[in-house]
Amino acid sequence: MGDAMGDGMGDAVRRVVIIGGGSAGWLVAAVLAVDHAAATAEGLQITLLEAPGIPPIGVGEGTWPSMRDTLRKIGLAEADLVRDCDAAFKQGSRFDGWVSGAAGDHYSHPFALPQGYTEADLVGTWLARHADQPFAEVVSFQPRLCAHGLAPKQVTTPEYAAVANYGYHFDAGKFGLLLRRHCTEQLGVRHVCDEMIGVQSHANGDIASLQTRAHGALAADLFIDCTGLPSLLLGQHYGVPLVSQRQVLFNDRALALQVPYPQPDSPIASQTLATAQGNGWIWDIGLPTRRGVGHVYSSAHCSDDAAEQALRRHIRASGGPDDLPAARQLRFEPGYRAEFWHRNCVAIGLSSGFIEPLEASALALIELSVHALSAQMPATRAAMDIVARQFNEAFSYRWERVIDFLKLHYALSQRRDTDYWRDHTAAASMPERLRELLTLWRHRPPSHYDLACIEEVFPSASYQYILYGMGFRPEAGSRRREDPALAERCFQEAAALAARMRPALPGNRALITHIQRHGLPKI
Ligand SMILES: Cc1cc2nc3c(=O)[nH]c(=O)nc-3n(C[C@H](O)[C@H](O)[C@H](O)COP(=O)(O)OP(=O)(O)OC[C@H]3O[C@@H](n4cnc5c(N)ncnc54)[C@H](O)[C@@H]3O)c2cc1C
Repeated sequence: MGDAMGDGMGDAVRRVVIIGGGSAGWLVAAVLAVDHAAATAEGLQITLLEAPGIPPIGVGEGTWPSMRDTLRKIGLAEADLVRDCDAAFKQGSRFDGWVSGAAGDHYSHPFALPQGYTEADLVGTWLARHADQPFAEVVSFQPRLCAHGLAPKQVTTPEYAAVANYGYHFDAGKFGLLLRRHCTEQLGVRHVCDEMIGVQSHANGDIASLQTRAHGALAADLFIDCTGLPSLLLGQHYGVPLVSQRQVLFNDRALALQVPYPQPDSPIASQTLATAQGNGWIWDIGLPTRRGVGHVYSSAHCSDDAAEQALRRHIRASGGPDDLPAARQLRFEPGYRAEFWHRNCVAIGLSSGFIEPLEASALALIELSVHALSAQMPATRAAMDIVARQFNEAFSYRWERVIDFLKLHYALSQRRDTDYWRDHTAAASMPERLRELLTLWRHRPPSHYDLACIEEVFPSASYQYILYGMGFRPEAGSRRREDPALAERCFQEAAALAARMRPALPGNRALITHIQRHGLPKI
């Protein structure tokens, strides 16, 4: 596309254009602007181009605790997030109906690590002495806080600090608007509201500039593609293919609804509820003013009508009204790009790939991507290909781990009630690496040796929560020496912490109402 405009190899990287104004675009803009002094004359020049007629996807309501570090780093007040983004605190997820589908079938994946995780062999002692109780509830205090709808901190806890580890549930549309205001008013990001209608290239194939309708050509040294599912630069301009994961994770559609509470002061759940269905699962996320509820399902196994009926049944059964408008449908091909950084273009966010929102990994991957990009920002075009290679290797690995981890939620299920569950538990749909890990885990728990990267998306503790929550039981016979007394002390500590925190922590809604009125102490 476009004319040859010379060869930019060897030039300093001074100007960055981000295309896309969803959560990905604005998070990238904010982190780069802070790290590379965009507000100063010597800093990186950062422009964000956003088409006013193409709205961001507007879903993406659950985050990981990593979001606290990201928001603190970019200088956003936590009280502003709570007030402006309809945000609530999330302490993990509860999975209903994933193991057998029978009434009462549930397990937890809290954000807090098991008590004494790095010091004691908790799994061996739990199996030997407490296997009649759920793993997460023995090793962690946090499921007990969530069961009572408690907040993860007190009104006196400074912003972003935690009594119990937490992330957020928020309104994704409002989150983008808050980031936009912060980026343009505080961080020196230039915002161009216009549509890209073409790409101009250098002779070597690098992108030279993006052609807009009303603002001419936006030239830069590095382009960040945050255009969402269409992936305009990496996918469409460069033709980097999406590597489909449909053979492993079948879900490719979602229906989303906003559900009012029965009363304005109804309790707000402290965890994402993920309820397994015959052909997918339903997320249920509590925000201060409403719930966000949606059904993710496989179009190969289920019609849209049947999926909508299942969603409405769930909403009725959980106290929601009958007369909601039609659900919004979203379609996606589960997968990720064969590479994420090609020439002078990096894709971050949905443009780099998307897998179903189980465990809310998308925003976490965006955070990991922008922190990596920012730390590795090449000083010159000549350095860029080396950085690109490192980035591509690191993120191919991370996407593969996301696939393994999500598949673990399905692969161990005892459900066989539909083709969906029969297909999900069939050996043919299991990734090779996960199969290997499950062989190892028959004899020992998941550990950091299985997940050797410095910034794994999901730590080994998360694998333990899912593995044992799903009912996986290792074979007896490990000869490793254990110290049951130490593990017992950790279990007692978890129980004691829960007992101490329960009366000391406010409810999720009470804390949010307090923050809306009075803010939070600064550190
Ligand atoms: C059903 C569903 C549920 C999800 N739930 C979660 C969750 O709980 N947790 C989580 O972490 N993630 C979740 N996600 C993923 C999350 O929504 C996204 O990762 C996140 O919102 C980032 O989106 P984005 O910014 O990449 O794309 P988008 O929000 O789609 O933004 C694309 C941007 O590109 C711009 N654009 C497009 N074309 C042009 C053009 N020609 N010129 C200029 N600009 C252009 C648009 O104007 C827009 O601003 C979910 C996704 C789906 C589909």
